[in-house]
Amino acid sequence: MIQPTGMAVLAELDLLKQVLRAGSRVDHLFGKAGNRVVLDVHYSALSRRRAPFGIGIHRASLFSVLHDAVVRESIPIHTAHLIAGSDRAGEQRQLRFADGKVSRPFDLIVDTLGTRTPLAPQTGRELAYGALWATLDWPQGAGFDVHTLEQRYFRSSVMVGVLPTGTPPGAETPKAAFFWSLRADRLKAWQDAGIEPWKHEVATLWPDCASLLSQITDASQLTFASYAHRTLRKPMEHALIHIGDAWHSASPQLGQGANMALLDAWALAKGLTEAKGVTDGLALAIKLRRRHVLTYQWLTALFTPVYQSDSRLLPLIRDQIVGPLSKLWPATAIQAAMVSGLIANPLEPLGLDKDLQTRLTLAEAT
Ligand SMILES: Cc1cc2nc3c(=O)[nH]c(=O)nc-3n(C[C@H](O)[C@H](O)[C@H](O)COP(=O)(O)OP(=O)(O)OC[C@H]3O[C@@H](n4cnc5c(N)ncnc54)[C@H](O)[C@@H]3O)c2cc1C
Repeated sequence: MIQPTGMAVLAELDLLKQVLRAGSRVDHLFGKAGNRVVLDVHYSALSRRRAPFGIGIHRASLFSVLHDAVVRESIPIHTAHLIAGSDRAGEQRQLRFADGKVSRPFDLIVDTLGTRTPLAPQTGRELAYGALWATLDWPQGAGFDVHTLEQRYFRSSVMVGVLPTGTPPGAETPKAAFFWSLRADRLKAWQDAGIEPWKHEVATLWPDCASLLSQITDASQLTFASYAHRTLRKPMEHALIHIGDAWHSASPQLGQGANMALLDAWALAKGLTEAKGVTDGLALAIKLRRRHVLTYQWLTALFTPVYQSDSRLLPLIRDQIVGPLSKLWPATAIQAAMVSGLIANPLEPLGLDKDLQTRLTLAEAT
C-alpha cells in the first residue's frame, strides 16, 4: 500500500497521477476474528487534507512508474551487477561486484539494496512469521469492496487478507493481492501437504474467498515472503548512505516500508541540496528522518505480534478490548494517522506538509 506519506513524495515528483491510475484507492481497512470486528480503520477519520486515502498497488506497477521517470531523465542504468560490498577510495567510494570487478569511484553511493544489503553490517532479526502471497484476478461480484483491504484472523497464528491492487503492467483486468500468514518453519510442511487441505482451511475461515481460491491450482502460484526487523544505528559512512530497507526494515503489518523508502530518498535530496558538502548533506538527511523511522520501527514491533505470533493473550486483548475500544474517538483518528504513516509528523520537516487533497484533485484533473 502507498500511504499519504508516500503519496506526498510522489506528488512532488509529479508521479502521483500515474500511481493512482495503476493502483486502487483504499478507503478502509477492515478485519474480523470470528464475528468480532477487530480492525476498522477509515482514512476519513483524519481530515481529508491530511490523509484522503491509501493506494493498493502491485509492486511492478510502482516500479514501472519510477523506472519510466528515471528513463525520462536519461539517468544511466547498469543492470546485471551483483553487488558484494564497497570500499573507500580516497575521498570517494567504489562498489565491489560478486564477479570480483570493481566500479569506478563515486562521491556518494546510495545503498537501496534492501534488508539483506551487503553494504551494511548484519543486524536485527528474522521474524518467525512471514506470509504466502499471490496476485489473483479481482473477485468481481464475490462480496469484496474494491476500496477495502480486508482480513480475517484466528488468534494471531492465522491471518488471511485480500488487498485490491489495480491493474499492473501487462494485465488487462484489476488484480488482488491475496495473502496467508505462515510461520517460516512451517513452510516445508505446508508445501508437502499439497494445497487442497490448505484451501479447505481458508474457505472454512472465510467462505467468500471461494472465487479467489478457485484461481489457485498449484502451490507455486504463492510466493513466501520472510520478514526481518532491523534498524541500522548509524546509516551513513564515508561517501555512503543506507536508505529504505537497507536502513530500516520491519514486517509489513503497518504497510509503511515503501513509503518510508520514498521519504528517505526525498530527505536525501533535500539534505544534499541544502547542506554544504556530501557528508553534511547525509547527516541532515538522517536527522530529518530519524524520529519518524524510529517511531515506526517501534510501532511495527509492537503491533506485529498482535496479528502474527503464537501468543494466546495478545489476540484475546485485541478481540475483547482493543477491537471494541478502537471504534471510539479518538482511537479512530489515532489508528488512521498510524496507518497513514503520519505519526511523528514526518512531512513537515521535509517540506511535504502541503494540501494533498488539492494536489490529488489537480492530478486527477490533468
Ligand atoms: C510481502 C510484503 C508486503 C509488503 N507490503 C508493503 C506495503 O503494503 N506498503 C509498504 O509501504 N511496504 C510494504 N512492504 C515493505 C516494502 O516492500 C519495502 O519496505 C520496500 O520495498 C523497501 O524498498 P527498498 O527500495 O529499500 O528495498 P527493496 O524493495 O528490497 O529493493 C532492493 C533491491 O535491491 C536489489 N538487490 C539486493 N541485493 C542486491 C545485490 N547484492 N546486488 C544487486 N542488487 C541487489 C533487490 O533485487 C531489489 O531490487 C512489504 C514487504 C513485503 C515483503
